[in-house]
Amino acid sequence: MLNSTDVFVIGGGPAGLAAAIAARQQGFRVIVADGARMPIDKPCGEGLMPDGLAALERLGVSVGPENSYPFGGIRFLAAGLAVDAAFPHGASGMGVRRTVLHRLIAERASSLGIDFLWQTPVTGISEDGVHLGSRKVSARWIIGADGGNSRVRRWTGLHAFRERDRRYAFRQHYCVAPWTDRMELHWGTLGEIYVTPVSKDEVCVALISRDPKLRLTEGLQRFPELKARLEGAGVSSAEKGALTATCKLKRVSRGNVALIGDASGTVDAITGEGLCLAFSQAMVLADCLRTGDLARYEHEHRRLALRPFLMARLMLLLDRRPRLQRRTLQAFQKRPDVFKRLLELHVGVLSPLHLALDGLTLGWGLLTA
Ligand SMILES: Cc1cc2nc3c(=O)[nH]c(=O)nc-3n(C[C@H](O)[C@H](O)[C@H](O)COP(=O)(O)OP(=O)(O)OC[C@H]3O[C@@H](n4cnc5c(N)ncnc54)[C@H](O)[C@@H]3O)c2cc1C
Repeated sequence: MLNSTDVFVIGGGPAGLAAAIAARQQGFRVIVADGARMPIDKPCGEGLMPDGLAALERLGVSVGPENSYPFGGIRFLAAGLAVDAAFPHGASGMGVRRTVLHRLIAERASSLGIDFLWQTPVTGISEDGVHLGSRKVSARWIIGADGGNSRVRRWTGLHAFRERDRRYAFRQHYCVAPWTDRMELHWGTLGEIYVTPVSKDEVCVALISRDPKLRLTEGLQRFPELKARLEGAGVSSAEKGALTATCKLKRVSRGNVALIGDASGTVDAITGEGLCLAFSQAMVLADCLRTGDLARYEHEHRRLALRPFLMARLMLLLDRRPRLQRRTLQAFQKRPDVFKRLLELHVGVLSPLHLALDGLTLGWGLLTA
């Protein structure tokens, strides 16, 4: 086994693999270690927004039609009402099974000559390297990509963070042909369910609520229209649960250690933005490693997080507020252009300033709906 490298990435989930690829693209020698084995599954809505796909392309990973299912926009549904909008410029998002996405990114990383240590948990770090039990690998840079419960974050003393809106998510796949080319978000009184088509005969269904005991079968009873769509369909995965929250760190780097992906803060799952954010962070981080400037990474990391955090705040306003959900959807039905611009903001085509102006319009719409 190698005993030294330029960059050691702790965690081989999507963020760690993206960071490894981006660092390799800058010419660094890279090792990735993960305690789990390939391919790694994780509860996820499995939707990649157009900006996330573009970021993946820049990393040299393409998600072909044989591995995924395209969706052309987003649909909100609540209390018998529905609004939808297409992504700007005819762009598409992609639904892709998490294990498939993991395999595709790992294959790209392997093809670049990145070294992997699967089923190898990192047990500690020191200034000049990474500890794998009794072994040590020296590294100039250490990247903590070890997820929401990051130990690297604790080891580095970067664990001061603010968390809000802690919720519980359960995900399962149903064997049914997608009935729409939209990613659907069903709003309800207990929480939300979102549905992403992931292949021509399979959809991913994720329930998010504040009740740790609420499972999908029970939650679906509250969404009769969706329940009817899934009636009689077999399931193709076990139900898996996860926590989701919006969590902001004061700092994401110290010395030669930088955090990325969920280890560096999380945005509520409802935004479907976690992966895109991680891919964008990866490219910025690699460039900052090249110039040896992690202060710039701090700055860019904050800038990248602004839009997803704003989207999370806006969307969570509707969480468990049926009257507001109904009025908002009515207002969007009256002003579909505003919903369209919300989606443009979501995928990074529009600035928050434009949305603030629209917010006034929508506020008026809400009062008069
Ligand atoms: C319910 C739900 C739905 C979501 N839906 C979407 C969506 O539709 N679209 C989207 O873009 N995002 C979505 N997200 C967010 C997205 O899943 C996360 O942002 C993404 O998984 C973060 O990837 P990561 O690599 O940072 O962390 P993880 O995927 O958690 O990977 C961390 C890795 O680190 C490894 N590890 C941990 N500790 C160690 C150690 N000591 N040594 C070695 N390895 C270690 C773990 O084994 C793991 O493989 C969703 C999240 C949830 C919870």
